[in-house]
Amino acid sequence: MGKRILVTGGAGFLGSHLCEKLLNDGNDVICVDNYFTGKKANIIHLMDNPYFEVIRHDITMPIFIEADQIYNLACPASPIHYQYNAIKTIKTSVMGAINLLGLAKRLRAKILQASTSEVYGDPEIHPQKEEYWGNVNPIGLRSCYDEGKRCAESLFFNYHRQNHVKIKVLRIFNTYGPRMDLNDGRVISNFIVQALRNQDITIYGDGKQTRSFCYVDELIDGMIAFMNSRDDFTGPLNMGNPNEFTILDLARKIIALTASGSKIIFKPLPADDPLQRQPDIQLARKELNWEPNIHLEEGLKKTIEYFKKII
Ligand code: NAD
Ligand code: UDP
Repeated sequence: MGKRILVTGGAGFLGSHLCEKLLNDGNDVICVDNYFTGKKANIIHLMDNPYFEVIRHDITMPIFIEADQIYNLACPASPIHYQYNAIKTIKTSVMGAINLLGLAKRLRAKILQASTSEVYGDPEIHPQKEEYWGNVNPIGLRSCYDEGKRCAESLFFNYHRQNHVKIKVLRIFNTYGPRMDLNDGRVISNFIVQALRNQDITIYGDGKQTRSFCYVDELIDGMIAFMNSRDDFTGPLNMGNPNEFTILDLARKIIALTASGSKIIFKPLPADDPLQRQPDIQLARKELNWEPNIHLEEGLKKTIEYFKKII
């Protein structure tokens, strides 16, 4: 029999793929979202499923429902969105974690936190291993997100130590794919939309900064495998594709794949923008036998097809 699973942030990019996969696997899914960055369009295709429920709710307020597992994804994830109302972003990470950990404690439910590679800040260790404590500016523009997520990790581990809550802390590295928001300013959606519209491709800085991009389906499979792994495997666990590219490489690839006439232009690098990022995924390989195989070009082609349909 399937489980009853609560997904916060279920109407967002990752959340909507997670809800879909959990439903396909035969579970009852309750999606909680305040639609700050998520959209009904992301989950409309699931609405006819009698095992899918949606609740409009803000996780900074307590919620009382029954569930066997909780995936806490609610939080704006792109720099534009999380800096739009920085205080709200911190509240979502911190008060949201307190509310959902309290719920998990009462229900004795397992709870997974969607943490982020941003907890490593601008890393001095490369690639980043889970043991690394990070290099985060605690008062900078990104701190509402980075420090909010770091505080949430601390809350997860303290509820685990003090109240024996079954926790899973997943550090997600840059993930992309269909249903990314057109306007959220993340690099893959920005470049694809600019290329399809033959607009200038905006590289921030000199484009030599690196990121490693994971295709959404593989991340979701790994997230579910982590949730269902043995209870004493709490993480933190890195998940992402270790193939690393410069932002300039990425721009060139997207121009080629879209056969676009766009030119590349350079704009100032935002403050505290990490120079390099690559996950060390040995732990996920060892514990979950998880390995991302979708090459960047293959994933970009699927993502480009999605954006062609919606713009
Ligand atoms: P997203 O913005 O598409 O989704 C976030 C969802 O949370 C949206 O549906 C939004 O409406 C909802 N939400 C925000 N604040 C809320 C609140 N207070 N109450 C209820 N719902 C709220 O972003 P995403 O890319 O799908 O990211 C999902 C999670 O994964 C986030 O926690 C993010 O920090 C984490 N993450 C994502 C990535 C990535 O590359 N996509 C990388 C690292 C971590
Ligand atoms: N970036 C860019 N042009 C854009 C959007 C982003 O050059 O139009 C850069 C950004 O400065 C960063 C990288 O791409 O160095 C990844 O940015 P994103 O916001 O997608 O993710 P994050 O910085 O959170 O990893």
